Amino acid sequence: MDADGLKQEIDRKIYEVKRLITNIEELLEEKKYEKYIPKEVKEFVLYIKEYVNISNEHFNFTRQISQETFSIPVLTALLSLLDTFKEGFFSLHHFFKEIIEISILESPSPLLIYFNKILRKIYRDGKIIATKQSEYNFHFIPLYKISGRPLLDPNRKLEHFALIRYPFSEYKNVFSNILLIHELGHFIYKKLNIKNKIISSIDPQEFDQYEQAINEYVETNYQSDYIIETPPKMWETIFSWWEESFADFFAVRIIGPAFLYAFIKFNLILKDTEIKIFISQHPSRYYRITRIIGLLIKDGWESVIKLKTPRIYKWADDIDAFKNLSYNIPTSIFSFDEDPIRECYKYLEKTIEKVALVTEELTANCNYDLETFEEENDIVEECLKKFIPPSEIFYKDNFFIAKPESILNTAFIFYLNDGIEQWYSMSDRSKDDKTDHFFDNRLNEFVLKSIEDNLILEIWGK
Ligand SMILES: [Zn+2]
Repeated sequence: MDADGLKQEIDRKIYEVKRLITNIEELLEEKKYEKYIPKEVKEFVLYIKEYVNISNEHFNFTRQISQETFSIPVLTALLSLLDTFKEGFFSLHHFFKEIIEISILESPSPLLIYFNKILRKIYRDGKIIATKQSEYNFHFIPLYKISGRPLLDPNRKLEHFALIRYPFSEYKNVFSNILLIHELGHFIYKKLNIKNKIISSIDPQEFDQYEQAINEYVETNYQSDYIIETPPKMWETIFSWWEESFADFFAVRIIGPAFLYAFIKFNLILKDTEIKIFISQHPSRYYRITRIIGLLIKDGWESVIKLKTPRIYKWADDIDAFKNLSYNIPTSIFSFDEDPIRECYKYLEKTIEKVALVTEELTANCNYDLETFEEENDIVEECLKKFIPPSEIFYKDNFFIAKPESILNTAFIFYLNDGIEQWYSMSDRSKDDKTDHFFDNRLNEFVLKSIEDNLILEIWGK
């Protein structure tokens, strides 16, 4: 392309990016975001305003230079600069509307404030923004991917944001939204480069040895003419299993058995086959449940699960029958009967132990432990049984408020042990009229109110 052609191309790109910016500016003008939005969204919007201003300066400068020069290398460089901006604004535009339309009133807000607080304990500048989605699942989207290059994030602020999405129908359901903590784990895994921490904790020679064995296996078995698929990348599978396991272990360490309960409750909606299924990005859910329980037992929680939620304990015990390895390994990719794969799988299992160790180390200062649960559980439980929000407690002449973790665990146990049924039997409401979810909603409100009170009292220094 000659200089004139490049200049035309540059003008066209500037126009495209400007149009994206105008759309974003219009959304900013609507000022929807000023009402009832979480603090993190407010910070995000401020950042975007700053970003738009900086970019406008860049464009004016780019246009000026492009008009004054005929140097093809300079014009080509300007064009690639504009591509970077286009890419960045395109992604921003994609998330922007979704983000500014969140209202505190339509999110499990106190829970999110509490999760952000946990995040900052481990990753000081980290911020999560939660939004609703129509898909019945939870997702993690790293906003820092938008920034990627320094040019798109000149003050390095966007790189600290992550977006997590929850299913819109569950926004009121505090027990489902406990799963957001797993998504938080993904964010931490990426930002603190946990993968490298795990790699440095395993024997490099052993790692190389397996890598070589797998590579050889793949070479000899998958290079035949009639297989057109790309050879499966076993190490990619291993790395994604690490990340998935880390996110689970992280959630367990932060919140205790409530994560197990939330995971089982949410996944039971899925078909049995889906729970057993292995995909290369995820170990099967059965495998994950087995691992989650393993870590809880290691941390001393077995008696709580066994005695306080016997039904869950029994259910989990029964799935031992499914602990058949074929549910846990990538049979669809490899034949499990092949020796190198069997060995590699055993090795993968061994490295997951390292993932647990790294998680334990990282969460040593914000781990929810059995001792705290035992101190606070009885009082919270007593409140719930009497239909009192567990934040209004006078205990031994003192005002007492339990930790969010104790409130979540005790309330979940109360729920699993038919606490809602007991509330119905205490009230005038007919049990047949449960469609209004009256007491389900109350339990959610009690939990969220108590967590909120706990957070407020902490700000007040009480
Ligand atoms: Zn995950």
